Amino acid sequence: MGAKGISITFLGGAETVTGSKTLVQTDKHQVMVDCGMFQGLKQLRTKNWSKFPKQESKIDHVILTHAHLDHSGYLPVLARNGFDGTIHCTPATKRLAQLILLDSAKIQEEDAQEANEGQWSSHKPAKPLYTVADVEKCLKQFVTHKYGEWVILNEEFKFVLHNSGHIAGSAWVELRVKEEKIVFSGDLGRSRPMLLYPAHRCEEADYLVIESTYGGRVHEDNDPKDDLETIINETLKRGGNVLIPAFAVERTQEILYILGELLVAHKIPKVPIYIDSPMAISATDIFMDFEFRRPISDEIMAVLNDHMKEVRSPSESKKTVASTEQKIVIAGSGMLSGGRMLHYFERHIGEANCSIVLTGYQAEGTRGRQLIMGMPELKFFGKYHKVLARIYRLRNLSAHADQKELLLWINRISKKPKRVFINHGERVNADTLRVRIQDQFGIPSEVAEEGKEYLI
Ligand SMILES: [Zn+2]
Repeated sequence: MGAKGISITFLGGAETVTGSKTLVQTDKHQVMVDCGMFQGLKQLRTKNWSKFPKQESKIDHVILTHAHLDHSGYLPVLARNGFDGTIHCTPATKRLAQLILLDSAKIQEEDAQEANEGQWSSHKPAKPLYTVADVEKCLKQFVTHKYGEWVILNEEFKFVLHNSGHIAGSAWVELRVKEEKIVFSGDLGRSRPMLLYPAHRCEEADYLVIESTYGGRVHEDNDPKDDLETIINETLKRGGNVLIPAFAVERTQEILYILGELLVAHKIPKVPIYIDSPMAISATDIFMDFEFRRPISDEIMAVLNDHMKEVRSPSESKKTVASTEQKIVIAGSGMLSGGRMLHYFERHIGEANCSIVLTGYQAEGTRGRQLIMGMPELKFFGKYHKVLARIYRLRNLSAHADQKELLLWINRISKKPKRVFINHGERVNADTLRVRIQDQFGIPSEVAEEGKEYLI
């Protein structure tokens, strides 16, 4: 332990955007911020299966910044392996985490079963990382708190959650350990999110742990609405379909909102919009329930009600895949690691008149990243498929602050931190942000190393 008797250990989300887990400990207590699953490249995914480097039962609490799997997806494993403390988050995060974790468990169980039947897997027998039963067990440990409400964990630790403007219910964490204020940015949203309110300002921090997903980049400022309008009109004119792989949470709602705006303004033809994802349908329902979002006009709601078609059951999905009508399809998964979108791909990816519109961050090793890289063939369902469809990317739809916005958020901190740790970003992004923070603010900054214990 350092002079203050506090240490911070990064157990994931260090030099990668996945697996976020940061342990803060004193000699008496252990509190973890986020408990994410590694995703993407195989060497990252296999880490989910390694022995956890700490004793799970010694962790007293987990504070969850938001529901995304790269922040929440290891919770069922942690709980199964002995963590019996409380998981703290906002009410919207709890509802979304339930949806996301159950879906993830179901996909894993199904994938394992299919792999065993089809014998694609190199592990015999293939196993899910966690099951629906594991998820149900850990969901009982969730306790919710509103933004701005101080929560006392013990005589050394207390915290408060503030809106981070990234997804519904997302938060940055102000953690007080003894006399030190450690701030965890979680994932920070854009300065002007499309549907949410912008991140709350941080007033002071002794130490700051900040994400760097786009630490090395500035988003373009063209309007995604204009790009989508052009893509949709050109594709429909060519007689093709528009396939939009999208994350069920946030991105689907943003795309729907844009489509609603385009329809209200008569900028695209009246075309059916299929949401082929029970999860995206539920996420949209949750989204509509909370007051954290900006109001949506009655006109947009009405036009979406007219054009949106919800596809829930697998048989309805099969029928929609087989139908010959021209359409826009929104389905998961956002990075194409699985999900119903692959069935639309099986039918349309070899058609030159079809368009595929990627709408979010595509991690290394995912099929989404391969499409962006211009791979001529894409492997799914155990074989290679020729990519003839046009591939587009709506970059500026990101739910993440870019470099400028991250620096702006730090700039607005009145009492600046004395040390900054940069996590949740691939090496080049994290390192670029590190240099920028040092240059602009003169604060000693370092890129968090996985497994290293930092004494403060
Ligand atoms: Zn996130």
